[in-house]
Amino acid sequence: MNRAAMLLLDILYPNRCDCCNDRIPYDMLLCEECIGLLLGQRIDFADWAQNHPAHPWTAGTALFSYADAARTGVLAMKDGRRGFCRFSAKLLAESLAETAGIDFVTWVPVTRSRRRQQGFAHAEYLAECIAEELGIPSRGGLLQEQAGSVRQHDLPAAEREIYAQRFTGTGADLRGMHILLADDILTTGATLRRCTSLLLEMGAARVDIAVICAGVKVSLRDD
Ligand SMILES: [Zn+2]
Repeated sequence: MNRAAMLLLDILYPNRCDCCNDRIPYDMLLCEECIGLLLGQRIDFADWAQNHPAHPWTAGTALFSYADAARTGVLAMKDGRRGFCRFSAKLLAESLAETAGIDFVTWVPVTRSRRRQQGFAHAEYLAECIAEELGIPSRGGLLQEQAGSVRQHDLPAAEREIYAQRFTGTGADLRGMHILLADDILTTGATLRRCTSLLLEMGAARVDIAVICAGVKVSLRDD
């Protein structure tokens, strides 16, 4: 885009930071201040994994504690805004750079009616952004969510495992595939455990997960 077009766009449709809503230049995904805050919220996935049951995936990556700037960013992402999502996809791709051999990225689906209602699925967009950063394809149609009446965040942990049974596989042939499964938030992990197991049942050789936020307290990374 040339400079004149950028200036015109800036007047007509100001670019705003998903985390604080301040105006930002067109070539920025978030404002400098929020980027600084987010980097201070980085977590180590191992901290989450330590306090949760055995999981079926091989490797996992999470970026931020689910609070403050990251929480606002996830909420903006659910509203269809994309700056925070793209910023997170870049960081996820960086931390996955050493995980060679991923065949494609897929995502935790939402029910058809919810997707229709929203007009998009945010985890799908996240998966597409990560795939683009990694230079590999994204692929949907592997998992499906059956409609249910309960919102998961209202459920206690034990019931989430049962509720996660609403996800089913489509019977795709995934033999030998190394898959990256993306979602926005990891709390108890019930959804990602279920979805990972389904991909493995369909023949996947290995599933890794990538999430933006995990529900753990802030602990600064050593690096
Ligand atoms: Zn900001």
